[in-house]
Amino acid sequence: MKRYWNMDVEEIKKELETDDKNGLTQEQANERLFKYGKNVLKEKKKKSIFSLFIEQFKDYMVLILIIASIISFFLGETIDASIILVVVILNALLGTIQENKAEKSLEALKKLSQPLAKVVRDGKVMEVEASSLVIGDVVLIEAGNIIPADGRLVEAKNLKVDESVLTGESVPVDKVDTVIENENIPLGDRLNLVYMGTTVTYGRGKFIVIATGMDTEMGKVAGLIENERNVKTPLQLKLEELSKYLGTAALVISAIIFAIGVLQKRPAFDMFMTAVSLAVAAIPEGLPAIITVTLALGVQKMIKKNAIIRKLPAVETLGSTSVICSDKTGTLTQNKMTVVKLYINDRKVNVKEDEVKQEDYFLLKNAALCTDAFIDEEGKGIGDPTEVAIVAALNDLIGLKKADIEKEFPRIAEITFDSDRKMMSTIHVMDKEDFRLITKGAPDNILKRCKYILKDNKILPLDEIEKNRLSSINEEMGKEALRVIAVAYKDIKEIPKNLNSDEMEKDLIFIGLIGMIDPPRLEAKHSVEICKKAGIKPVMITGDHKITASAIARELGILEDNDEAVTGEDLDRISDEELKERIKRISVFARVSPEHKMRIVKAWQKNGAVVAMTGDGVNDAPALKQADIGVAMGITGTDVAKEAADMVLTDDNFATIVAAIKEGRTIFANIKKAIHYLLTCNLGEIVVLFIATILGMPMPLKPIHILWVNLITDSLPALALGFEPPENDIMEKKPRQKGESIFAGGLAYRIPLEGMLIGLVTLIAFVIGLKQNIETARTMAFAVLTLSQLAQALNVRSDKSLFKIGLFTNKYMIFALIVAILLQVILIVTPINTIFGLRNINVYDWDIIIAMSVTPLLVMEVVKFFKKQY
Ligand code: ATP
Repeated sequence: MKRYWNMDVEEIKKELETDDKNGLTQEQANERLFKYGKNVLKEKKKKSIFSLFIEQFKDYMVLILIIASIISFFLGETIDASIILVVVILNALLGTIQENKAEKSLEALKKLSQPLAKVVRDGKVMEVEASSLVIGDVVLIEAGNIIPADGRLVEAKNLKVDESVLTGESVPVDKVDTVIENENIPLGDRLNLVYMGTTVTYGRGKFIVIATGMDTEMGKVAGLIENERNVKTPLQLKLEELSKYLGTAALVISAIIFAIGVLQKRPAFDMFMTAVSLAVAAIPEGLPAIITVTLALGVQKMIKKNAIIRKLPAVETLGSTSVICSDKTGTLTQNKMTVVKLYINDRKVNVKEDEVKQEDYFLLKNAALCTDAFIDEEGKGIGDPTEVAIVAALNDLIGLKKADIEKEFPRIAEITFDSDRKMMSTIHVMDKEDFRLITKGAPDNILKRCKYILKDNKILPLDEIEKNRLSSINEEMGKEALRVIAVAYKDIKEIPKNLNSDEMEKDLIFIGLIGMIDPPRLEAKHSVEICKKAGIKPVMITGDHKITASAIARELGILEDNDEAVTGEDLDRISDEELKERIKRISVFARVSPEHKMRIVKAWQKNGAVVAMTGDGVNDAPALKQADIGVAMGITGTDVAKEAADMVLTDDNFATIVAAIKEGRTIFANIKKAIHYLLTCNLGEIVVLFIATILGMPMPLKPIHILWVNLITDSLPALALGFEPPENDIMEKKPRQKGESIFAGGLAYRIPLEGMLIGLVTLIAFVIGLKQNIETARTMAFAVLTLSQLAQALNVRSDKSLFKIGLFTNKYMIFALIVAILLQVILIVTPINTIFGLRNINVYDWDIIIAMSVTPLLVMEVVKFFKKQY
């Protein structure tokens, strides 16, 4: 690589044929993208559909079936052998389709959370996908960004970058935009370069891209990155374990049936085939795939509801969330700020009703100079809403444009805003040699740094009494739910080289206060209500003043009579033990720094809670990682916060978190329904064969019947359960406890009971059919086994009566049932029946089949009635 750190900007511009002001033209960018490729780290090759299909045959149960089919073939049972093979192939196809679908939706998810980069092209600032950056592009970065490519800085304002991913150095590096003379220096010392994958922790900057994709330093060390395709959720892992136990149990039972059958002198080969088919049918091998598909489906539904899941296990955890710690601004409120009150010179000004005087101009002008916001040509406010409100007030109240006053008093330096200091400062040229430092921020913090106050154009000392008075005016405004910003200034003679907050932001002259309203989001109140019903505690966390925060929290129903509101300062005084006890009562945390969020999450977790925590800034990342569900803001959130989060809200809305929790609960409930369904069906099959063997009856089902039933019922209807709509009361139950068994909530009794019922009705149909002949009996048993399992799919849809939830509320289920019933009927009434050893039966037999098939469903309706689950 060229030694870009030794070159000055002009050389680099020439070398890379670009311009640091206007950037590349879009045409140049397109050409370079075409020529040099995308700015991405290459991933290892993905599995093809074919290899997914082949993988299906690695399952040892499938291998046993293939062996069974080969044995049948050699014993002359060609038809059986072929049917088994067809079943195996159909099964593999189904597995491939399911896995492919799940993988596709996960991939789509990954695409959605791809980072964007701010570039200058054709002289305009625009956002593009980071993957489309090319060499020569001019990129803007600010705190919270993950740097999208390697580059040479042409502007660095207080820029600090955490390069630990590359250099291992955990202290952020101060970056510069000047030439570095040394030729041979390690990566970490090239202070005017930035590298892909490192993060901006402070300040802002502008760089020219010098390397992209695999040519970046990151590309060189990372090599090919693993494709994270096999992230398994705790439930999936648990179920894999369960499947193993159930599989072993199925094998043992099959072996017992085989042994008893042989002892009874039944043909050994027939018994072997029966045992193998039973084992194959009884092992819930389809379960993991069905769960993955259900999770993936849920994830897609969540995208439509503005929640992007970044880590699959989050879907599951979401359902058990018991506390939501949410930022206030923008999440619970609209983040549309409007200045409504001013306070200056002992005067309270209600901007709608009162006259705006010359002294108010001074307040607004200074405040507006100390912002990064502006109003664009179309009249749209660009920048932080707090600052947009100030610039808009300047425009609307006194008809001044920020750009004009900035021309008059150009900004030459700044100390950027951070949520720990809760203030920011800018330095402007007033006269040739006079400069002005303007500071604006949280009134309590600003007052601490003020020594004087401006009154009637005179600078007077600011004593404690006056400070207290100003604090109470600030609180009064807070009670009206206003966000209050204080503005102060001082004139200085020179600008120190190192701008340091403690040295600069002191001995200030207080000018006044600006109060702005940020109305709560309309939907937030309703969502808070839902949370309360669902046993989820909503908690507000904000950098804003306690009184402002409490006023809004009360309006939203978050803060109720017996709840507490505490500040970051209070938190610093409370021990971890005390916090653990008190936290259950605290509904508002105000004036907190991102560091406090970590303590809040941990205190709740010590109480056994499952915590969702929102965040947007760089410093929020540790708390987002610590939380059970880290939630990042899609619009205002930084790359770093998004990277650390499990879920990203594309609309930054509290209501979306609640909607996602509902979806999470639904997904978990649906997975439980699928498990319930598959286990009862399998148990039913075991009961039939086990009882028939013990009683010395002829075998009610042939091996191919068992395989067929398994194919029909384990596929479409089981998948359709994943589409079940949420039950009406899903948000009226308490959250699921951490570590709660999958069989909690009645499954432990329902599975054995319903499995037995299915087995019994099948046997009864068989015994009735036996009065005619064995083929009729088998046809009836086969039909009842399939149809009662299909009816069971309706039964497991809810703890409540089918009539209560509505028969037609899941159209996928109706479709699945119609297809399955049609296939079954075709098998029985068409000539194919002879292949399966079946025969056409009369209407009377069909009546019995139907009656038997719906009996388990009806019995369970009665049980549900008596359990008052109507
Ligand atoms: P929340 O945590 O609810 O989202 P927030 O993000 O607004 O609140 P911060 O951004 O940390 O919290 O702001 C904390 C305080 O800092 C605000 O109450 C305000 O007084 C002050 N403040 C916010 N934005 C600015 C700004 N651009 N310039 C100066 N001060 C600001």
